[in-house]
This record gives sequence, C-alpha cells and structure tokens, in this order.
Amino acid sequence: MFYRPESIDEALALKSRLGAHGTFLAGGTDLVVGIRKEKTRVEHFIDLTRIAGLDGVYRDRDRLRIGALCTHAALEREAITALADACETVGGPQIRNLGTIGGQLGTASPAGDVSVALIALDADCEIASVRGTRTIALADLFVGPGRTVLSPDEMLLSVSIAADRKSAFYKIGKRDAVAISLVMAAASVAPDGAVSIGLGCVAPVPLRARLAEAHVREHGLSDDAIERAAELAMSEASPISDHRGSAEYRRAMCATLVRRLLRGLR
Ligand SMILES: Cc1cc2nc3c(=O)[nH]c(=O)nc-3n(C[C@H](O)[C@H](O)[C@H](O)COP(=O)(O)OP(=O)(O)OC[C@H]3O[C@@H](n4cnc5c(N)ncnc54)[C@H](O)[C@@H]3O)c2cc1C
Repeated sequence: MFYRPESIDEALALKSRLGAHGTFLAGGTDLVVGIRKEKTRVEHFIDLTRIAGLDGVYRDRDRLRIGALCTHAALEREAITALADACETVGGPQIRNLGTIGGQLGTASPAGDVSVALIALDADCEIASVRGTRTIALADLFVGPGRTVLSPDEMLLSVSIAADRKSAFYKIGKRDAVAISLVMAAASVAPDGAVSIGLGCVAPVPLRARLAEAHVREHGLSDDAIERAAELAMSEASPISDHRGSAEYRRAMCATLVRRLLRGLR
C-alpha cells in the first residue's frame, strides 16, 4: 500500500499500526536506490511529503530548529557555515532539491555529510510516536551503518542545532562534486569556547570526537593542543579499507582535517 498522511498525527498513527512493515518516504533519494538495488524491501510506503510545516527552519534564541522534511537545497542558504557547506556538497542539484534532513538521518550512513556537520553543531533530534515525544543527542541516534535507535513506531520530527557558533566543514572525495566522501569532518566553537567535532567515513557511524573535544576544552586552541587533539581524533577513528581508500589514509586524513578545522576556528 502507498499511504499519504496529511498530518503528523496521521503519520504516527499509521506507523504505530504498521510498525516495521511501514516505511517512511521523504525525498526517496536513498530509499529508491535501495529498492532498485534490491537491498531494501518495502511493504507499505508512508509518504511524508504532504505533511505541511515539516519543512520549516525556525530560530529559537541561540538554536535553529530544522524540520525533518527540510531539503539540503534549502539549508545551503543558511548562514551556518558547516551546515551550508555540507549541504552544498550533497550529490547534484536534483538530489539536493529532493533529499531531506529526516532522510539523511534515517539512512544512518557513516558517509552522511550533513549528519557530520549537524553533530559538530551540537545537534539534538526530536523523535515522536503516538506514545509521545523525546529528544536525544544526534550522536546517540546512530547505532551502526543503516541502523538507528528509532523504535518501529517512531519518526524523526526535527533537528535542533546551535546557531551562534563559528563553524566549518571539510570533505575529501574522489572529485569535487557528486562524490561520496572518503573522509569528512566538521567543527564548531561556541561563544564560551566549547568545541564540538564531527567525523565521517572513519567509523561505522557518524562520530563525535569526544576525546579531542575534551582535550581542547582543557588546553585551548594552542598549536600543541591542536596537534594533540588531531592525534586523539585519529585514535577515536576505526575506519575500514575499501575501493575508495585505505584505513591508513582515512586515519591520516582525519587528523589533517581536524588540525585544519581547529586552526580555522581560533
Ligand atoms: C546520486 C546520489 C548522490 C548522493 N550524494 C550524497 C552526498 O554527497 N552526501 C550525502 O550525505 N548523501 C548523499 N546522497 C544520499 C541522500 O541524498 C541523502 O542521504 C538524503 O538526505 C536522503 O533523504 P531523502 O529525503 O531522499 O530520504 P529517503 O530516501 O526518502 O529516506 C531515507 C531513509 O530515511 C527514512 N526516513 C525518511 N524520513 C524520515 C523521518 N522523518 N523519520 C524517520 N525516518 C525517515 C526512510 O524510511 C528511509 O529509510 C546521495 C544520493 C544519491 C542518489
């Protein structure tokens, strides 16, 4: 069946009834590829695109709330550097016009560029079901490639990020556009000096580099502290070797990107 709910309540009621037999459809850029490759089987589609108000971006003091249906193209225009730059690197214009934040997080790819930028912006995500809503740190959403902590009746409603931070995002790929990342990293610094760092393609999930963050929190952004933070970030990474690059290369680039990001945030 193909369901087209027109409200969040209707979507949640359907998901509660169908559980794992119902699959949300947003932009379809991941889901349709999975179906075509016969990696994903869908019994019932729950198309979210008719739900009004889920594609908005709202400012709430020093936080920005981004609805699950917000597209990468819309976020390219935001003034938050790491977020805008990450969104700008996703696929080509057609993919960015269709692909959504909810879909990016629902896919839970370790190569999700925007997931890494959001982690570096200290993101929380709002999760809903007919049982109520809960908020968790985005870094805790992912449990493995393609797997999240969402229960079969739950849906991502929005992501909230720090909007008052200086931030940056760097991606290494085989070419400049329409390229899956080899390694990417993002970081932000809060007005009180707290630094958040996200890493991608160096672990089974988009990773928050907590050891590196703690080191910078204690020792600041001196050359020595940055060097040690880059080493710590590298130690937190557990990349694989594949046809795109070796684990050694990914680990080395992880340190390089963290060093470059932190120097830029001083
Ligand atoms: C050619 C191509 C190039 C790409 N390039 C990049 C790239 O460079 N960088 C990058 O990061 N990604 C890239 N992608 C991946 C993709 O575009 C993104 O992950 C996109 O954000 C997925 O969003 P969507 O709305 O299309 O998700 P969909 O395909 O509709 O859904 C993806 C998954 O999320 C679930 N889901 C959707 N919405 C919700 C919700 N609200 N709550 C819970 N679960 C939900 C769905 O059930 C499904 O399991 C590329 C894809 C293609 C096809």
